[in-house]
Amino acid sequence: MVEIKIDTEKCVGCGTCVDVCPVGVWELVNGKASPVNASECLACHACETQCPENAIEIIE
Ligand code: SF4
Ligand code: SF4
Repeated sequence: MVEIKIDTEKCVGCGTCVDVCPVGVWELVNGKASPVNASECLACHACETQCPENAIEIIE
């Protein structure tokens, strides 16, 4: 089970994580990224590495 952490204080709602996730984990909710399909996460780390604000942490 992968644990997804999002720091909503850092998130600026750019949508990069929504675009790069291959399995649609992320959606923007009220301008902040939310891992609405967290159980689908493949731990590819694309969102974590490409978030410009370092707001995402993927823990395997
Ligand atoms: S990539 Fe980072 S800053 Fe952009 S919406 Fe996702 S979590 Fe927020
Ligand atoms: S680690 Fe990969 S599969 Fe998991 S939420 Fe981020 S982009 Fe999606």
